[in-house]
Amino acid sequence: MSNVSKELCLRFAEARRAKKFRQTELAARVGCTQSALSMFEGGQPTKLSEETVRKLSEVLEVPLVEEVPPIGTLPLPGLVGSVCVVHGFCPNCQCPSNVPYVVDGRLFYRPSRKVASPTGGMRCTQCGEMLEMSCPSCGAPLNDGACCAACGAAYVTPVVAEGLDVLVYAKTRREEIIQLRELE
Ligand SMILES: [Zn+2]
Ligand SMILES: [Zn+2]
Repeated sequence: MSNVSKELCLRFAEARRAKKFRQTELAARVGCTQSALSMFEGGQPTKLSEETVRKLSEVLEVPLVEEVPPIGTLPLPGLVGSVCVVHGFCPNCQCPSNVPYVVDGRLFYRPSRKVASPTGGMRCTQCGEMLEMSCPSCGAPLNDGACCAACGAAYVTPVVAEGLDVLVYAKTRREEIIQLRELE
């Protein structure tokens, strides 16, 4: 009997759907019955043997680490503890995770550091864009701030209409982002 957490059962179900397996297919592949798999996915881990759960974890590429939180409920950086996390940022300049500001008439975005689970949480939770895990220009590890310390490139490329008053834009956008964050 396996004794994984209910959360992990749900993660397996999520991973199966993501990989487009039907329960019967997956059950045949790991050597259990469809009904046992169904009950397992519904949060009854004892319905499958440890051996079967280990096979499921291989097929679905879900690590058997209890602490990994489900996608969508990722904790904030700093509260993560023992969870294995990858940091990234969202390269979409329209995304509320990127806060615009202006230096010498040039528009920059300061990206928020995002936590991505190594098992498929590599998309921005706010806009769905794929997260960047390193500098898109030179591949250096991410540093705080808007630009790469290694090559100086801005992490987020501004895409704004020509002739736009960047100061007004940045101010308006920051106010919008504050409102969006209050709604969350
Ligand atoms: Zn985003
Ligand atoms: Zn760089």
